[in-house]
Amino acid sequence: MRLRNIPGSREAIAANRWCITEPERMKGEWQAVFGNRNPIHIEIGMGKGRFLMSLAKANPQINYVGIEKYSSVLLRALQKMEEEPLENVRLIRMDAEDIGLVFAEGEVGRIYLNFSDPWPKDRHAKRRLTSRQFFARYASILQEDGVVEFKTDNVALFGFSLDEVLEAGWHLSGCTWDLHHDEAMKEGNVMTEYEERFSAMGNPIHKLVACRIPPR
Ligand code: SAM
Repeated sequence: MRLRNIPGSREAIAANRWCITEPERMKGEWQAVFGNRNPIHIEIGMGKGRFLMSLAKANPQINYVGIEKYSSVLLRALQKMEEEPLENVRLIRMDAEDIGLVFAEGEVGRIYLNFSDPWPKDRHAKRRLTSRQFFARYASILQEDGVVEFKTDNVALFGFSLDEVLEAGWHLSGCTWDLHHDEAMKEGNVMTEYEERFSAMGNPIHKLVACRIPPR
């Protein structure tokens, strides 16, 4: 994602009611943040938040937490939230490496990863959000029957991710190399900003769903 630093974005985020500025304090307390016992689903690397907000609008019985590393990007999502507030959404600016400090064991029901950065150099493999190191972090916060859903148009990253799911001791409950032409898996698909851009260029979209317990 091309980044332009927006002066004052950190301050604007700190003052925003949708943004949780000290998320470590909410570990194990996310039901209190939302004021209900609804399931909590998170998106890591949410960008400007279009996917997360579409899901939140369609599923008011689910709470959504969006995580984004950069203030300048998160600010765009916060501006959308100001225009159209969603009570079941909260946003965090953080690096997902620290996700285990923010959610307690079993606190999260589903994790979405969309068009995650590929980190093409081998020596950076563990920074990829679908590396075995990240799957270990996800295992520490996901419910036992929780899932990770990942979409990308990047062939190398998708192949790597399929291997890492198995290396991490997880299982695949869904996999397609061409989501938009897969009748079963495209049902209910919500497009992300990057998905719209890359599919318009003719790139097939790949998707996997990984789970901790073997699918029946
Ligand atoms: N998910 C959006 C989409 O599909 O349109 C944005 C995709 S963009 C290529 C990847 C986003 O993930 C960027 O906004 C980036 O800042 C964020 N990101 C990358 N690594 C991250 C990390 N370790 N923790 C949190 N966010 C991260």
